[in-house]
Amino acid sequence: MFQSPLREIRFVMHELLDDSALVKLYSDVDYSAEFADSIIEEGGKFAENVLEPLNQSGDKEGAQWTPRGVITPKGFREAYAAYTKAGWAQLSVDTKSGGQGMPHLINMAVEELMFASNMAFYVGTSLVRGAVETISASGSPQQLAQILPKMVTGEWMGTMNLTESQAGSDLSLLRTRAVAEGDHYRIFGQKIFITYGDHDLTDNIIHLVLARIDGAPAGTRGISLFFVPKNLINADGTVGAPNDVRCISIEHKLGIHASPTCVMAFGEKDGAIGYLLGAPHTGLSHMFIMMNAARLSVGVQGLAQSERALQQASAWARTRLQGKPAGGKGPGPVAIIEHPDVKRMLLSMRARTEAMRALTYYAALELDCAHRAADPMQRASALARAELMIPIVKGWCTETAVDVTSTGIQVHGGMGFVEETGAAQFLRDVRISSIYEGTTGIQSNDLVGRKLGRDRGAAMAALIGDLLTQLNAARALTPAAKSIRNAAIEGLTQLRDATESLLQQYADKPERALSVSVPYLQLCGLVLGGALAARASVLAEAALQKSPQDSFYAAKLQTGRFYAEQLLPAAPGLARIVKSGAGSVADADTALI
Ligand SMILES: Cc1cc2nc3c(=O)[nH]c(=O)nc-3n(C[C@H](O)[C@H](O)[C@H](O)COP(=O)(O)OP(=O)(O)OC[C@H]3O[C@@H](n4cnc5c(N)ncnc54)[C@H](O)[C@@H]3O)c2cc1C
Repeated sequence: MFQSPLREIRFVMHELLDDSALVKLYSDVDYSAEFADSIIEEGGKFAENVLEPLNQSGDKEGAQWTPRGVITPKGFREAYAAYTKAGWAQLSVDTKSGGQGMPHLINMAVEELMFASNMAFYVGTSLVRGAVETISASGSPQQLAQILPKMVTGEWMGTMNLTESQAGSDLSLLRTRAVAEGDHYRIFGQKIFITYGDHDLTDNIIHLVLARIDGAPAGTRGISLFFVPKNLINADGTVGAPNDVRCISIEHKLGIHASPTCVMAFGEKDGAIGYLLGAPHTGLSHMFIMMNAARLSVGVQGLAQSERALQQASAWARTRLQGKPAGGKGPGPVAIIEHPDVKRMLLSMRARTEAMRALTYYAALELDCAHRAADPMQRASALARAELMIPIVKGWCTETAVDVTSTGIQVHGGMGFVEETGAAQFLRDVRISSIYEGTTGIQSNDLVGRKLGRDRGAAMAALIGDLLTQLNAARALTPAAKSIRNAAIEGLTQLRDATESLLQQYADKPERALSVSVPYLQLCGLVLGGALAARASVLAEAALQKSPQDSFYAAKLQTGRFYAEQLLPAAPGLARIVKSGAGSVADADTALI
């Protein structure tokens, strides 16, 4: 059973990251810590009571393709209806677009709970918010009036149609065509791997499609963005005749079985009717709004499945009896959690999961400042920081989640490998997260080539500087908290050196920098997560002085110590790879690999 980690979420939002600035920034929606808590508590109830009971059954049944359309597993339609009725779809959509206008931070917490309870259900639903943002930014007033209200309420869902069989990471290769016809275009082409490209949850689907207008330049500069409704929209806004777009099959895959991954045919007959969003040939920049939202969301998927795996492994380790206590002292069998190695595995799962949460929520808070701060300079620096963090959140949280969910299986022993316990599903489901929305390799290219490259590392230096200032300012520490703090400071210093070396390599020979960009991304996640874990430990120590019996803070301190002593020591190794490991890749002969 999944239990929403409400205390932990409250701690991260209100104590670790101190969201008090949002009270002023979101005064229009009366933001307060209590208000945020009540929303998250309700989100937790929905996740536990409505979505979680469908997680294993949805995995077993899977989505089904039929000639009349794709059918989602039993219970999904009712769950989606309950989701929209409760207003969850509108949560963080801007009030100007008809949403509730809640901060990204709240949305992220709610997303975590929804993804943790049922990732396959929520992957489609979570895409709609990004689609709404993209349409709001690029659509004409008439287009907005036509489709936005129904998408905001969740009455219609939206999809993201980028990938084609020859154009995955490299969208410059895409071939889907758009031919002008009066006030619209006719779209011809095939898209693959489209999440919730067809389903029975809503009576219309708005596909956001990247295509090339006939005669457009080659490469990414010739790509435009269109919206293509599954069913045409009548003048009065009602759903009309079917458009020339069809799901021709769905994929059979490792995980998220309940999420239909569709091959979509556009224009098998006269051409699917589509409408241009924004100016011609500017499609990729518009689509980036949706992709950035989705990348953060995918990072949260990693966090959420790790939390699920941790909860289940921790419960299992308390009931499974094997062996004698360590050192053979006393009779057995004991609960396996008593064995040092099982304790170590659980601590490593907990420490990394909590670090992922701190990092993802931090990025969300920066986005809130980027959108709402009164001072333009503050907005600009918050945006630069959020954009810097997005590839780190996406890449590090998802790669780490694969490891954490795998460790969850290990804690179960053989029972983790059989499906009955559900431990394997968390790994199978989360495995896609480091692939879609840009693989880890693509995230690391973005981090090094764009995010560091464009300001010569200024945003990264500012982030490291702020974290160092905060940690150095911590006073009255016990030796335990001091050594956690010092380990994090050391990690940040190593990250700063590695960043300088990487920037130099990128300036001299980009190929060398890209040969170590994934280890660099891993270093960023490990160290930034460690700095936040250390800050959490310092806060926990102060709280324990006031309430020594509070086991929540005792656990924080214990987890922080593990992070400092067993996870952060990997940082100098990664930093060394970044500084001096590029040659072994750059000089390697591909014929000999
Ligand atoms: C379940 C599922 C759902 C999906 N949902 C959607 C969706 O809703 N909409 C949509 O448009 N797409 C979707 N996708 C597609 C997904 O985004 C792509 O699979 C992903 O971007 C990778 O593209 P690819 O599969 O073509 O792999 P490739 O691009 O062929 O990559 C293969 C390998 O090469 C590496 N590589 C490629 N180029 C570079 C480079 N320049 N530098 C370094 N390494 C590189 C990659 O990192 C990867 O390891 C989905 C895919 C799946 C499996």
